[in-house]
Amino acid sequence: MLRRFLLWLSRNERMRRWVMKSRLTRGMVNRFIAGSNLDETVISGRRLNKSGILLTMDHLGESVSTEDEADEAGRVYLQMLDRIKQENLRATVSLKPTQLGLAVGPDRCHQRIRAIVEKAVGHGLSVEIDMEDSPFTDATLSIYEALLKSDRNLRVCLQSYLSRTDADLRRLIDAGGSVRLVKGAYREPAAVAVQSKGEVNDAFLRHMQMALTPDAVLAGFRLAIATHDDKLVQAAREIAVKNRVDKKDFEFQFLYGIRTDLQAGLAADGYTVRVYQPYGQQWYPYFMRRLAERPANLWFLVKNLFRS
Ligand SMILES: Cc1cc2nc3c(=O)[nH]c(=O)nc-3n(C[C@H](O)[C@H](O)[C@H](O)COP(=O)(O)OP(=O)(O)OC[C@H]3O[C@@H](n4cnc5c(N)ncnc54)[C@H](O)[C@@H]3O)c2cc1C
Repeated sequence: MLRRFLLWLSRNERMRRWVMKSRLTRGMVNRFIAGSNLDETVISGRRLNKSGILLTMDHLGESVSTEDEADEAGRVYLQMLDRIKQENLRATVSLKPTQLGLAVGPDRCHQRIRAIVEKAVGHGLSVEIDMEDSPFTDATLSIYEALLKSDRNLRVCLQSYLSRTDADLRRLIDAGGSVRLVKGAYREPAAVAVQSKGEVNDAFLRHMQMALTPDAVLAGFRLAIATHDDKLVQAAREIAVKNRVDKKDFEFQFLYGIRTDLQAGLAADGYTVRVYQPYGQQWYPYFMRRLAERPANLWFLVKNLFRS
């Protein structure tokens, strides 16, 4: 219930204005956001790389409503790739299709993502495509599958809560693609997504079992397991051992600032760990989705509100 309310608020304009202006939210926001600009994010990225953790950088923003805004978002990503190359960072970039104009015009969005992928390939870098709410799943996967032909390392996110994911994952395994598996962060109707935590966890487990196999690795498929859930992380380790999938053939991913203890432990055990580093000014919807995932974060915020 609370999760659904917070996800509804993540799209509420009045709440956005209040939260973004409030000094009270600042400390909490800094916990989840790697920087307000690229310079700050590069500093925190260097630190993470030094401790053996890889990055995927995300310039915050989504749902643009004009082609000009989408063009500008595209330029930011091209500059980000130049900077990653120049700094020699071990990083990919993560982008949201609606930030690059998917809702305005799918063809031009496709062209912008293609330009970003081409630049990344030229620099010896890789791109990851985030998955947004279900009205965009088909279009996002169709862009991904078209571009996979020119970049075998291109990665897309699949959400375990969606009923369609079994079929999408099977197809991408056979195509030798690369997938970031997540539980799913949006408010979705029962017609397209399972609703209870237990069902989502079962689906996540089933998807790991499908994807962490020698046959999938042989087909060139690579899985990134993106969860902070201890039990699922442990299950991934056990499935990989049982199926004889080498540590170098999959990776774990975490959101910036969450479960840093688990991140460090996995890296120390020789697993590849990558942290999703969001930065920029448009942090409101991202921040609200993080609150929705863990209501304890909200209580922390409310306590501070009453203390001040
Ligand atoms: C690298 C990465 C990329 C992602 N990309 C996408 C994407 O493209 N599309 C999409 O829909 N979703 C994406 N997500 C979000 C994902 O769908 C989940 O909403 C999110 O990861 C929370 O689910 P969980 O698997 O961590 O499990 P949960 O059951 O939510 O959490 C398990 C435990 O992790 C800790 N935890 C989880 N979330 C928080 C938090 N916000 N604050 C503090 N502790 C927390 C808590 O200890 C909690 O008990 C991404 C997640 C990661 C890690």
